[in-house]
Amino acid sequence: MTSNYRQAELRYDPAEIDRKWQERWDKDGLHRVDDQDPRPKWYEMTMYPYPSGDLHIGHWYAMAPADCHARFRRMQGYNVLHPIGFDAFGLPAENAAISRGIHPQVWTMDNIANMRCQLRSIGAIYDWSREIVCCVPEFYRWSQWLFLKFYHEGLAYHGKAPVVWCPSCQTVLAHEQVVNGACERCDTIITRRDLEQWFFRITKYADRLLDFDGLKDWPNKILTMQENWIGRSEGVEISFDITSHGLDAKEIRTFTTRIDTIMGVTFIVLAPEHPLVEQLTADEKRTEVEVYIEQARRTSEIDRLSTDSEKTGVFLGSYAVNRLNGERVPIYIGDYVLVTYGTGAVMGVPAHDARDFVFANKYGLPVRLVIAPITWDGKELSEAFLGDGFMTNSGKYEGMTNEEGMDAITQDIEKNGWGSRTVSYRLRDWIISRQRYWGTPIPMLYCDACGIVPVPEEDLPVLLPPDAEFKPTGESPLALNSEFVNTTCPQCQGPARRETDTMDTFFDSSWYMLRYLSPHFEDGPFDPELAKTWMAVDQYTGGAEHAVMHLLYSRFFTKGMHDMGIVDFDEPFLRLYNQGVILGEDHEKMSKSRGNVVNPDDVVGQLGADAVRCFLMFIGPWDQGGPWSDVGINGTARWLNRVWDMVEHDPEELPLAPGAETVRQTQRLLHQTIRKCYNDLDRFKFNTAIASLMEFSNHLNKMWADSAIDPATWRECVEKFLLMLAPMAPHVTEELWEHRGLPYSIHQQSFPSWDDDLAAEDLITLVVQVNGKVRDRLEVPADIDEATAQAQALASPKVQAYTQGKPVSKTVYVPGRLVNLVVV
Ligand SMILES: [Zn+2]
Ligand SMILES: [Zn+2]
Repeated sequence: MTSNYRQAELRYDPAEIDRKWQERWDKDGLHRVDDQDPRPKWYEMTMYPYPSGDLHIGHWYAMAPADCHARFRRMQGYNVLHPIGFDAFGLPAENAAISRGIHPQVWTMDNIANMRCQLRSIGAIYDWSREIVCCVPEFYRWSQWLFLKFYHEGLAYHGKAPVVWCPSCQTVLAHEQVVNGACERCDTIITRRDLEQWFFRITKYADRLLDFDGLKDWPNKILTMQENWIGRSEGVEISFDITSHGLDAKEIRTFTTRIDTIMGVTFIVLAPEHPLVEQLTADEKRTEVEVYIEQARRTSEIDRLSTDSEKTGVFLGSYAVNRLNGERVPIYIGDYVLVTYGTGAVMGVPAHDARDFVFANKYGLPVRLVIAPITWDGKELSEAFLGDGFMTNSGKYEGMTNEEGMDAITQDIEKNGWGSRTVSYRLRDWIISRQRYWGTPIPMLYCDACGIVPVPEEDLPVLLPPDAEFKPTGESPLALNSEFVNTTCPQCQGPARRETDTMDTFFDSSWYMLRYLSPHFEDGPFDPELAKTWMAVDQYTGGAEHAVMHLLYSRFFTKGMHDMGIVDFDEPFLRLYNQGVILGEDHEKMSKSRGNVVNPDDVVGQLGADAVRCFLMFIGPWDQGGPWSDVGINGTARWLNRVWDMVEHDPEELPLAPGAETVRQTQRLLHQTIRKCYNDLDRFKFNTAIASLMEFSNHLNKMWADSAIDPATWRECVEKFLLMLAPMAPHVTEELWEHRGLPYSIHQQSFPSWDDDLAAEDLITLVVQVNGKVRDRLEVPADIDEATAQAQALASPKVQAYTQGKPVSKTVYVPGRLVNLVVV
C-alpha cells in the first residue's frame, strides 16, 4: 500500500532536488575522505545494517541523525570518516534462501544492491569507496587470519560444551540469543546438547573488560549491563564430603560469597546437568529425577535465573557432609542452579539467602539462623536475614562479628585443604562455531596423525564453496560437501578433513571498524598506517540491544589484538550513544502484522529526504525514540517550505534603517540560536536544535512582515540559518545556498560561531524580596548595579506595601537575579 503523504503544499520538487545534489556530490567526490587531510580526525561510526532486503524507517532513525552529527563534526573543522557497510553473513539469508529456494549469496547481494540505492536516498556523507561487505573473500579472509592469530595466542580453543540448540534453525545459539526460553529468530523453544565447538577465551579478559577507564563517554546503562553480564564476585570455594557414597568423586565443590553462613547450611543443590547427579541419585528417586532433568533442559537460562520464577527441585536421596560441623545435609537438584556458573552446585543457607529461604519452606527443610541481627529478639524469621550481625549456632566462631567469622572460617578451610578464596564470574567463553552454511569457514583441519591443525596463513582464504547443500540437517551443511571437507594435512601431507562449522557473525563485527580504513588492503586486515591515523573510533552510535554481545565482543577482540601487537589501542569505541526506537503511528512497535510499518521510500519520494530527516530528529530526544506521525511529517515539510519562501525573499525590499530595537533583538536571537544549536548538536539533542531553528525562522518571518530589519542583517541571519540547518537538511540548504549565489558547497563551510555578548539579554527579571519573601519582579537592564537595583526595588509600590517606610537595615544582592531587603 502506498500512502499519500503529500498534504503539504510544496514550493519545490523535493525528489528533483535530492537527485540533483546527490549526483553532484557524488561526481565531485564531496564525501570522499582524504586520509592525509591535515585537520584533526573524527571517526564516527553507526552500526552497520544487516542486508535484510529493504531499508525500513528504523534504519533511517538510526542513520539520519547519526549522519547529522557526523556532518556537524565536519562543520566544526574535523576530517570526518563516517563509513557504511553490510553485516552480510548470518542466519536470515540462509532461512530466506531455504524458504524461497534462492542461494544465500544471490539473496544477500541482491538485497545489498537494493539497500545501497535506498541508503543513498538519505543523503548521508558515506564514503562509498570504503564500503565493506563481510561475505566476500576479500573481507572474510582477514576474519580467518585473525582467527588463526587468536588460536596461536591460545585465545581460541576446541572443546565439548553443552550448548543451547534451536531445533528449528538447527544451530547453536548464544545465550544472549535466547528470549523467554525460545530462539530469538524463530521463537522455537530451545533445547540443549553437547557439541564440539570453537571457543574464544573472553573469560581471560573478564577483569579487563570490567575496567571502563579507557572509555570516554558510554551510557551508564550499558556499562551496568556489561558489569552484570560479566558478573564478578569474590568468595570462597568450599567442598562437601561425599566419600560415604563410594564414588570416584570424593566431594562436591560449591562457591559462596557468604562463607560466614556455612554453619547454617541445611541442604545442597546441584544443577540438573551436574556430572555427579546420575551417580548420586538413589534408585527409588531415578524416575522423578529424570523427568525433572528433561524439563530443565527445555527451560532457558534466563527463565531459570529469573527472580520471579518458582524455585523447584528434587531430592536425590543422598547426602553430603559439611566438614565444618560434621553434619549430613540432603542433596537436591534445582534448575535455578546453572552448571555453567561457578561450580554448578550451591550450598543452601535458608536463614541468610532469599532464594534458599523459599526453597527450604517449600520442601520442609530446616532454617537455622547463624548470623544474629544486632536487634534480634530470638523469634523465628519471616524472611531471610541478609545483613551483618553476630555469629550464633556457630561452634568455635560463636560471638564473632560475621566479618571476623568470614576471615576465621576461610583460614580454617584453607588450612584444612577444603577450599580456598576465589573469584567467580558469570561470563563464559564465547562459542563462535555455527552449524550453518552462510558464514566464514573456520580455517582449521583435522588430521588423524597430527590432530587439530591450523590452515597455514598463505593458504587463506578458505573459500566458502558456492555449491553446498545448505538445507538444515542438524549437521553443518559443509560436512556434506566432500570436495570441501577432504584435503591434505600441511604438516604430514596425509589426508585431513576441514572444519565444517562457520563463524558467528559477531566475529565480523568485532573488527569491522578496522576494515573500513582500507577495505581493499591486501597485506593484512587493515593498513597499519591508517590505523594510526584513524583509530580508535571517536563516536559509535547504535541500538542498546547490542550491550552484551557485539559491544562486549568487540572490546574483548580489541584487547586481544592489542596484546598480540596487532593494534596499539585497547578500546575500539571511545564514545557510545544509543538511539531509541521509532514506533508506529499507534505508538506500538512497527510490524507487518500490525500494519503500522512506514515505508521510507514512499515518504521520501513525496516529501524529500530532508523532511524525513528533520521529522525523525524532531519527534523527541534521539535516545528516547518516539512514534511516527503523518501529521507530524507534513508539519515538518510545511516548515521547510516556509524556510524556502523565507530564503527566497529579496532583501533589497527591506528598509535600510528600520527601528534599532528590532534589529538588536534579531541579532540577539541569532547568536542565542547559534549557541543553542551548536551545544545541542554536540550532544545529540537534535529535537531541541530544530525547535530553536523553528523559533528563529518564525522570528525572521515576523521581521520580514513588519519590515523591521535591514537588508544586511537579514542576509547574515538567513545565511547563518542555512548553515545551521545544513547538517539536518543537506539537500534543501545546498539548493537555497546556491540560489543566494553563495560558494559551493554549503557542506564545506564552518558552523557559524556566536558572540556571548551579542547573545546576552538586555533586560533581566530581578526578584525583589522583603525579609526573604518574594514581593515583586522587575524588568531591569542586565548590567544594573547594586545601588540602582536597591533604589528600583524600594520604588516599587508592591514592595513599599511591605516595608511601610521602615529603614532598610541590610540588603542582599545577587547580581542579575535577586535583591533582598531586610527591614525591622
Ligand atoms: Zn530458531
Ligand atoms: Zn597430519
